[in-house]
Amino acid sequence: MSLASILGQARGVESLRRDGMVRFSFRSLSWLGLCLALTGFGISQSTAKKNPPSIAEAKAFIDEAEARLMALSVDASRANWVQSTHITEDTEILSAQANERAIAAGVDFAKRATRFDGLNLPADMARKMKLLKLSLTLAAPSNPKESEELTRLVASMEGTYGKGKYCPEGQEKCLTLEDLTRLLANNRDPKQLLDGWVGWHRIAPPMRNDFKRYVELANKGARELGFADTGAMWRSKYDMPPDAFAKELDRLWNQVRPFYVSLHAYVRNRLRATYGDVVPATGPIPAHLLGNMWAQSWENIYPLVAPSGADPGFDLTAILKKRNTDDRQMVKYGEQFFTSLGFKPLPKTFWERSQFVKPRDREVVCHASAWDIDNVDDLRIKMCIDITAEDFNTIHHELGHNFYQRSYNQQPMLFRDSANDGFHEAVGDTIALSITPEYLVKLGLLDKSPDTSKDIGLLLKTALEKIAFLPFGLLIDQWRWKVFSGEIPAEKYNETWWQLKEKYQGVAPPVARTKDDFDPGAKYHVAANVPYTRYFLAHILQFQFHRALAQSAGCQGPLNRCSIYQSKEAGRRLDAMLSLGLSKPWPDALEAITGQRQMDATAVLDYFAPLQKWLDEQNKGKPVGW
Ligand SMILES: [Zn+2]
Repeated sequence: MSLASILGQARGVESLRRDGMVRFSFRSLSWLGLCLALTGFGISQSTAKKNPPSIAEAKAFIDEAEARLMALSVDASRANWVQSTHITEDTEILSAQANERAIAAGVDFAKRATRFDGLNLPADMARKMKLLKLSLTLAAPSNPKESEELTRLVASMEGTYGKGKYCPEGQEKCLTLEDLTRLLANNRDPKQLLDGWVGWHRIAPPMRNDFKRYVELANKGARELGFADTGAMWRSKYDMPPDAFAKELDRLWNQVRPFYVSLHAYVRNRLRATYGDVVPATGPIPAHLLGNMWAQSWENIYPLVAPSGADPGFDLTAILKKRNTDDRQMVKYGEQFFTSLGFKPLPKTFWERSQFVKPRDREVVCHASAWDIDNVDDLRIKMCIDITAEDFNTIHHELGHNFYQRSYNQQPMLFRDSANDGFHEAVGDTIALSITPEYLVKLGLLDKSPDTSKDIGLLLKTALEKIAFLPFGLLIDQWRWKVFSGEIPAEKYNETWWQLKEKYQGVAPPVARTKDDFDPGAKYHVAANVPYTRYFLAHILQFQFHRALAQSAGCQGPLNRCSIYQSKEAGRRLDAMLSLGLSKPWPDALEAITGQRQMDATAVLDYFAPLQKWLDEQNKGKPVGW
């Protein structure tokens, strides 16, 4: 477990697909520890001036921090693993206790690191000091009363979200978020969709005043640490000035925006064919019709927008089932992908200690995740594998995390993490992009790959998932950064939320909203203080990585047909990046894999080029934009 995850900043290794539905007690506990322990943060600096420390002291301090955090994180990982694979009241308490110990130590080191501010340290040591201090996502004010209040607010908002249910009038059964997620995904009656959408968004208004106070207190804490506000604190984790980072995101979005607008126009038009005038011909799309509570990814409405004749001609789920593939064989396929690139096979303990199938005798957390228990090579995945194409994909993704974790295990403890928080997810997804029909042919799962004229369906499905996500991935923190900076006052929370939804996504609320609504709070990451920009970055980076690796592998064909399977050269490049971990600023890591020091969304356009062409044909003569 990395320092970032100890401090509750990142779960790090979970796929986004089911985000917002995960309940994880670790994070709220981490804030608790954070807030309480951060009390009195400002004091140490003044003592430092009177009694300046030496470089030798700084080195001893870092050594101590790394050794202690290493030991505590291993304890916490073991406790969390047992808790996730055998949920009982006792395992929950034991894991909470282990987490609290690790968090308290992390916060203590963050606080003590400020004593060395202003000391001219060698680059490696300076970076470690910075990482110790930047691991926080929430800084409590030094006033104990305020600190306690902030702790309570954050726990309460996350609790309100977690307990959120919609109880339709006159019905006995209340609907959970899982029920409502299924409804939004599968139901095609606009009235019922609207009812589910409105019902869920009712959980949030009670959080509105708490949120306002949380913003005030969190900002106060961030200012005590020298940041302009909490948003600036979040943006400062990216090896560049906070404002330059914000500009980078705008630049990336503008690269892909025209493609998104084409996709939006096509989907709007197809939804009109299903729902009629509920969907306007030229304006934004109502948010309840896109197959997802937050309209954040649209793959669930694929059946409504699928082009005719775009069936790829094979069904991987059916093939795997027909061959009686079992869970271990599914994971073996994933491992073989990495060994074909030149990576060492997974250790024997991976096969002995992982959870592949849902146990019949106890409660477990089924949400797929990848683990690195000892920060060296006790790698594991935890899944409840079904024999499906989706899980085949997820296994490749999760193993991407595991091979990343093992590649950086030679680094010092504080550098055993991904180059920035977008990289870990991007690597998992990059590997999954190599699951092409040609790859399946090489595995012997498919006799021959369909011709590329069949690609539009597959590309459209991927675009509904990954391109539709981009503006959403961007706007969550665009909104929060403006809230933290004071540009958005509390009485405008909801209004500006929908202005940004419309501006970036071209999506509108399905019913009139008022200033008493608090729709941002109906999204987990807002209620629970989890930064979101990493998901946007991961969605751009994975295509940039894939393009670079495909070039290394000598792939000549369309990018969406390139698989790096069996390419030692691609494996070498990938490992050059993975093995750096967090030891260098992320542009160095990016350069190691792509040769570029800047993020570049043109790879997204390259990957989807055939679809862009097809969409342009479909949209000819029809309104585009909103
Ligand atoms: Zn993941």
